[in-house]
Amino acid sequence: MSRVYNFSAGPAVLPEEVLKEAADEMLDYKGSGMSVMEMSHRSKVYDTIIKEAEADLRELMHIPDNYKVLFLQGGASQQFAMIPMNLMKNRKAAYIVTGQWAKKAYQEAKLYGEAVEVASSADQTFSYIPDCSDLPIPEDADYVYICENNTIYGTKFKSLPNTKGHTLVADVSSCFLSEPVDVTKYGVIYGGVQKNIGPAGVVIVIIREDLITEDTLPGTPTMLKYKIHADADSLYNTPPAYGIYICGKVFKWIKKMGGLSAMKEHNEKKAKILYDFLDESRLFKGTVRKEDRSLMNVPFVTGSDELDAKFVKEAKEAGFENLKGHRSVGGMRASIYNAMPIEGVEKLVAFMREFEKNNG
Ligand SMILES: *Cc1c(COP(=O)(O)O)cnc(C)c1O
Repeated sequence: MSRVYNFSAGPAVLPEEVLKEAADEMLDYKGSGMSVMEMSHRSKVYDTIIKEAEADLRELMHIPDNYKVLFLQGGASQQFAMIPMNLMKNRKAAYIVTGQWAKKAYQEAKLYGEAVEVASSADQTFSYIPDCSDLPIPEDADYVYICENNTIYGTKFKSLPNTKGHTLVADVSSCFLSEPVDVTKYGVIYGGVQKNIGPAGVVIVIIREDLITEDTLPGTPTMLKYKIHADADSLYNTPPAYGIYICGKVFKWIKKMGGLSAMKEHNEKKAKILYDFLDESRLFKGTVRKEDRSLMNVPFVTGSDELDAKFVKEAKEAGFENLKGHRSVGGMRASIYNAMPIEGVEKLVAFMREFEKNNG
């Protein structure tokens, strides 16, 4: 067996320990005589799995009691519709458009009401986070929406926007559990788990209880009502049971590693190695304004499409996978999520130095 350094933006690298544990439990989960994949989601064994996963997540993020944690399906993209369907009481919401995922959410919201783009960084290919200290947020907006870490462009909100008292909704798919977060600042925090937590197919929604109401837009499907899932503790129908089980293992792994402050320290250390190199390199350049750089997704270019392609190819041959930038922007992108070991980044930088020497 040999494992590569996987720099994929998602589905992405998971802690090896977690994968091994899951492998050990594959045929017989803790004496149940079956795999978690084969067991009833209404069974006592599974109930413990999902309850423990929730409790561990609550502990890691210090989630207050007046927030519900929902384990849902449909990926982050399903939330692009679910959010307006459930929260657009006035049929108006403010969107800050800092990349493709924010834009997709904004466009989806337009199907349900008036989505107002109050800020955007499209003018410079989403390479920065706009000033959000005094935005023209409509008084009657139901919420202000952000994508907190922009997976494709590699930017991150270092401070949250001034919502002027409105509910903040954040897509944290690619920065979930990468650093401590003050949950009370948000109405809704959600993310697909395949970037930093688990297998694709699960989306976690952390939502303040007062936002969970019967009062959804007309025609909202039952499966897309937060209240239905909240009332049933995420067991209204069969949940993505195996995926939730892996998420639970990752929560325990993060706890063991020292929690979110330790994750942040570890992530800052890793990102610094790569960014420091990019800042001194004659060949490679980061594409993001320094103060807005993500700790998780690091896009960079050589300035030549040909050299970029050569780099991606040779990196792959050397065991560094998925360094090609998103199809919409080209260049390279190294995603260095929680589970990417520091050696992975050190070795990548050593490889980049060597490449620079041979191609400079
Ligand atoms: C990957 C990603 C999505 C889309 O996730 P799906 O689970 O594929 O729907 C949405 N938002 C962000 C920030 C992402 O990184």
